[in-house]
Amino acid sequence: PADSEVVLQVEAVRKQFGGLVAVNDVSFEMRAGQIMGLIGPNGAGKSTTFNLITGVLSLTSGRVQYRGETISGLSSREIAKRGISRSFQHVKMIPDMTVLENVALGAHLRGHRGALSAMLRLDRAEEQRLLREAAQQLRRVGMGDRMHELAGNLAMGPQRLLEIARALCGDPALLLLDEPAAGLRYKEKQALATVLRQLREEGLSILLVEHDMDLVMQVCDRMVVMEFGTRLMEGTPPEVQQSPAVRAAYLGT
Ligand code: ADP
Ligand code: MG
Repeated sequence: PADSEVVLQVEAVRKQFGGLVAVNDVSFEMRAGQIMGLIGPNGAGKSTTFNLITGVLSLTSGRVQYRGETISGLSSREIAKRGISRSFQHVKMIPDMTVLENVALGAHLRGHRGALSAMLRLDRAEEQRLLREAAQQLRRVGMGDRMHELAGNLAMGPQRLLEIARALCGDPALLLLDEPAAGLRYKEKQALATVLRQLREEGLSILLVEHDMDLVMQVCDRMVVMEFGTRLMEGTPPEVQQSPAVRAAYLGT
């Protein structure tokens, strides 16, 4: 909804890596229950922006607010606890564990520092709780009937859904997805689009980095276009599609 609560405010956010300005004073805001697309060519600064919002990287300058509270400067763990979750551009899973175990383990590791110590400290009740939550989130993304398969046997589409189920553990209100459709077949993309719309329907806000224009145009309420670290424009999918600047810079027409 266009008049819903502002969940995320990215304010003049900047990240320099030495002499390279990867994100150059970028600002945008997101409203609750919307899917916001973040697009732009390779190297535009999209993943870095994700890393700044989620506290994986520290900001050079600027500020990020979540539901009116400053979150920039907090640890990634603190930020996750407040209700922001993310998937990564490259899926990491353990191929000879089941889908269910992968989701449960991923959810568990999110809250802990060392993977090994975290696993050793896991008690039985906590393990059961994690498995229950993992099953619930897998059902939410339409993977309820594949929980006991080995993760290594999954095609790319279901792997991405596994990754989203993992990010959903802990019931975040804001989900950041980094290129969830990369390498997917047409049907897998359609399944993904259905899941994203369903999550929006349930009230989640989603920030989506994605190269696949069809998917972005189909599911996003609004979009931010980045180029060379800067914000080129922000608007609805039709506004972005019709923008001469965007066509020139990104769509190549
Ligand atoms: P995108 O996700 O839009 O493809 P990135 O945010 O990954 O772009 O990268 C933006 C720019 O920042 C690129 O030039 C990239 O090489 C650079 N960059 C990203 N991460 C680092 C890093 N940890 N150290 C140095 N440069 C980086
Ligand atoms: Mg990226």
